[in-house]
This record gives sequence, structure tokens and C-alpha cells, in this order.
Amino acid sequence: MKPPAFDYLRAESIAGALSAFQEKDGDAVYLAGGHSVVPSLNLRLQAPSSLIDISAIDTLSGISRHDGWLRIGAMTRHVDVLKNPEIGKHAPLFQAAAPHVAHPAIRNRGTIGGSLSLADPASEFPAVALALRAEMEVVNPQGLRRVPADDFFIDIFETDMESGEILQAVWIPPVQAGQVHAFDELARRQGDYAMVGVAISGILLAGILSEIRIAFLSVGNKPTRAVAAEAALIGLPVNAAAIAVAQEELEKDLDPPEDPQLPPAARKHMARVLLGRTLTTLGASA
Ligand SMILES: Cc1cc2nc3c(=O)[nH]c(=O)nc-3n(C[C@H](O)[C@H](O)[C@H](O)COP(=O)(O)OP(=O)(O)OC[C@H]3O[C@@H](n4cnc5c(N)ncnc54)[C@H](O)[C@@H]3O)c2cc1C
Repeated sequence: MKPPAFDYLRAESIAGALSAFQEKDGDAVYLAGGHSVVPSLNLRLQAPSSLIDISAIDTLSGISRHDGWLRIGAMTRHVDVLKNPEIGKHAPLFQAAAPHVAHPAIRNRGTIGGSLSLADPASEFPAVALALRAEMEVVNPQGLRRVPADDFFIDIFETDMESGEILQAVWIPPVQAGQVHAFDELARRQGDYAMVGVAISGILLAGILSEIRIAFLSVGNKPTRAVAAEAALIGLPVNAAAIAVAQEELEKDLDPPEDPQLPPAARKHMARVLLGRTLTTLGASA
């Protein structure tokens, strides 16, 4: 199908993009990589009067470090998340997840900012951002604010951003001594959206876990922390006994929706299996 007719505007600055959005009275959509917007136009899921292309705005690009934090500009393409050495060093969990995002053609155009702004509960990067305690740099006509990932993802395709706000960058906290990570997902075919996935970041020193964040994707309306499983692991070595307890505790954390293609019980079973695999990887990486 072809999209409905729309005006195309190419913004040169954040101020230009924000004021173009206001002039359209909100009847506009920002265009980043276009790999979610364009299919949704073609399927007539939305029909904005204007697309405001934000891909040429300088402040949305670049990967840099400030006081130990890593700042990844919103227009960073998935392929750069996969290959950039700074991300590999300071946010390796993103690189572990990136090969699971779609296919190379989509990774060449899709952006980290588009993925986080869209907040598809089946997407990899929102779960990674949650596991890493990332913060979102959001800009509006009044200025900037930083929103922790725990508060950013609100519901299916819904974030803390108001209509017209722009996600400018994602900030990753400094890597700590003993920090370990693991990512895995189950999909029907390589490159498909995950049926279930999990991103884990933890601190493992002298064989003992002192901190862990476990964030699942594709188990509910938004990326979901497994807080009971996390609590069961703190202060323990990551061995078979601890993993078994965490898998039991996961029952308290997940409540997947009814889905004729994948019943909740099957999804929970997959989540338990994935948790076992990723925790085993985590333990081995110490
Ligand atoms: C066949 C196919 C398979 C896919 N498989 C996967 C997959 O397995 N995993 C996965 O995670 N994704 C998958 N995707 C989605 C892909 O990763 C998208 O590129 C991504 O989700 C959106 O990024 P984008 O840059 O293309 O955003 P766009 O499509 O340009 O925008 C997406 C939404 O975010 C808004 N937006 C974009 N950037 C900003 C910003 N900086 N500030 C505010 N709002 C913004 C737009 O207005 C729009 O509403 C798939 C897509 C296709 C077509």
C-alpha cells in the first residue's frame, strides 16, 4: 500500500523541528530512520499531515563521554550501535543486543532514538536501557530534562515524552568494577521480533553478585524488570542453585497478556529458560 499524502519538512535544528511541530498543531510526526513510521503510514495506521525529518540535526548525532557517562545521540543508527568501539567499551550490553534487532538493511537506517521513542515492548533497546539504568535526554521548547529509563517507559508505545518533545540522546552510567552483562532472546526466525528476550546487567565481584538488573522484552506492555528474581540473586554466587531459585521467583514478576499465538504459560516458560541461559553466561563471564 502507498502512504496517504503528507508534507515533508527537513529540520536543520532542534528549535526548527520543535517550532515546525507546533505550527502543525501536533498533526505531524518526526521522521528518524523511518523504519517504523513509514510502514505504519503504508498500513494507514496513522495519517499525519506532515513528516518532520530530524535526521540532519547535529545535536542528535555523535557518541561522546562526559564525567564517565556515555552519551549516544538519538540519530545513532543500529549498525553503529553494533560496531562503535566506544559503545563496545562503555555499553557492551547494547552491542550484545544489536545483532538481534531486525536485519542488516533495517539496522542501516533505524536509529536508537527511534527505537526508544517508539517504545515497542518487543524491541531490544528499551530493555537494554532499563537494565543499564540509562537516562533519556528529552528536549522541548522550555529546555532539557533527563528521565531515568525506569520512569521513561510507561505503556505500549507510550513514554514519558509529551507530544512534540524530541529524544536528543541516551546517557549510559559509567561502567563499574566487576560489571557483567548478558543478552539473549528467542525468535521464530533470525531477525524477527522476539517472542521473549532478556537483558541483564550486574556487578559480580569475588564471585558474588552485589547488584543485578534483569529486564525482559516481549512479556508485557513495556520492558519489564524481574525484581523478585533480582532480589533472590543478591549476595550469592551465580551457580545452579541460585539460578534455580531465581527462575522460581520469576513467576512473581511476569504476567504476560493473552495471545492466541503464544499463550502466557508458554511465554513464561520461555522466559525461565532464557533467564537460566543468560545467568549461566553471566556467571561464566566473571
Ligand atoms: C521488518 C522490520 C523488522 C523489525 N524488527 C525489529 C526488531 O527485531 N527489533 C526492534 O527493536 N526493531 C525492529 N524493527 C523496527 C526498527 O528497529 C525501527 O527502525 C525502530 O524501531 C525505529 O527507529 P527509526 O529510526 O526507524 O524511527 P522512525 O520510524 O523514524 O520513528 C519511530 C517513531 O519514533 C518517533 N521518533 C523517532 N526518533 C525520535 C526522536 N529522536 N525523538 C522523538 N521521537 C522520535 C517517530 O516520530 C515515530 O513515532 C523492525 C522494523 C521492520 C520494518
